[in-house]
Amino acid sequence: MAKRQSILIGACVVLTILALVIPSLFVRLMLALIVMTLAVVWLVATSRKNSEAQSPADDQTQSPENLNAQSLLAATMTGMREGLLVVDKDMRVVASNVAARKLFNHSVPALKSQRLTELTRNPAIYSAFLDGLKGIERSGVKVETHGPERQVFDLRVVPIGSVNGDGAEGALGMFFDITRTERLELVRQEFLSNVSHELRTPLTSIIAFVETLESGATEDTESCQRFLTIIRKNASRMQGLIDDILDLTAIEGGNVQLQTAPVQLYELVEDVCASFAAKAAAQNVTLENKVDADVMVHADARRLEQMLTNLIDNGIKFSREHGTVAISHESGTRDRIMVQDNGDGLPAQHLERVFERFYRVDRARSRDMGGTGLGLAIVKHLALLHGGEVTVASEVGKGSAFTIHLPK
Ligand code: ADP
Repeated sequence: MAKRQSILIGACVVLTILALVIPSLFVRLMLALIVMTLAVVWLVATSRKNSEAQSPADDQTQSPENLNAQSLLAATMTGMREGLLVVDKDMRVVASNVAARKLFNHSVPALKSQRLTELTRNPAIYSAFLDGLKGIERSGVKVETHGPERQVFDLRVVPIGSVNGDGAEGALGMFFDITRTERLELVRQEFLSNVSHELRTPLTSIIAFVETLESGATEDTESCQRFLTIIRKNASRMQGLIDDILDLTAIEGGNVQLQTAPVQLYELVEDVCASFAAKAAAQNVTLENKVDADVMVHADARRLEQMLTNLIDNGIKFSREHGTVAISHESGTRDRIMVQDNGDGLPAQHLERVFERFYRVDRARSRDMGGTGLGLAIVKHLALLHGGEVTVASEVGKGSAFTIHLPK
């Protein structure tokens, strides 16, 4: 290119000199014209060359086809959540991404050239990569880390390059984070085992009493009546449990849509108290609606009623003889609805856990009173669904106060 330019410039110089020395005006004019034409040709060629030199860079950023494969690969590796680690046949790390670095060693900027054994002493990881280098694909290898928080990974290792007598040229491992899935699976198993346990007790009792009736107890009318009452009580417990499980599963699974609207709290509390009138009277417990007549709260009326039903039911169940369950309201940044009893109260160490599914301070007593162990869990999830929460304050021997906090 430079050579062509110097020839052009040289020609222009010669022609200009000739134009100056030749006496004929016509020839001088012709020579000047040629010089000008050459200059224009040179200028056009130079500007085109400049614009050509600029355009490829612009294209690269504008057109995805021109994205260079290396930067695509780098972006993919950095962006992916899965840890990615490539080792060569000497088990040295030749490539890794940010997720893998977090997994093994937070302090180093990049994992490069280290031996796999320097990164981890986990035998499961080592043996999976070793198999990879032998040309054997491994998947479903469970890897646990015990850093500040326990993490569980599913490791898959594949050989890289052609596999010959010496094995593969390298191995690529992908670490899939399954911590959350594992935790959910654990919760599900625990839930299932709790449900089976809760159902087995009343079912065993029903079967036992039915067998007693079958073996001739029907002749004794009084015992017969007693057994039937026990059977009914246990069957109702099972029904209550199944209802609560279905409810809780629907709420937790996000299948409950709230229909929120302004609710007249006094009326709602009156209705719930009325439904408990017989139960409260049977236990000599007084229900007190202390809510002002004009209080309005923003909630799903049916779900708020369900929350209050569970809390008032507990208040009565855990009340003492001649006890009181009072329902009141306070206004602040949020609406606070309190259900307060002067019953047994809760020991401090149980306060945090009473909202967990199936958590009960006294399992036998709760079952005896027809409890499912799910009432407070339902209240908690419904309160959360409203954008609020439920809290408890309690003192042994003095009573408990459960508060539903609702956004305005
Ligand atoms: P349950 O069906 O057993 O009542 P809940 O989830 O409603 O299940 O309550 C869980 C546990 O919390 C109860 O078993 C009881 O030990 C405790 N509890 C709940 N409400 C009260 C209360 N008002 N006073 C004392 N303990 C309570």
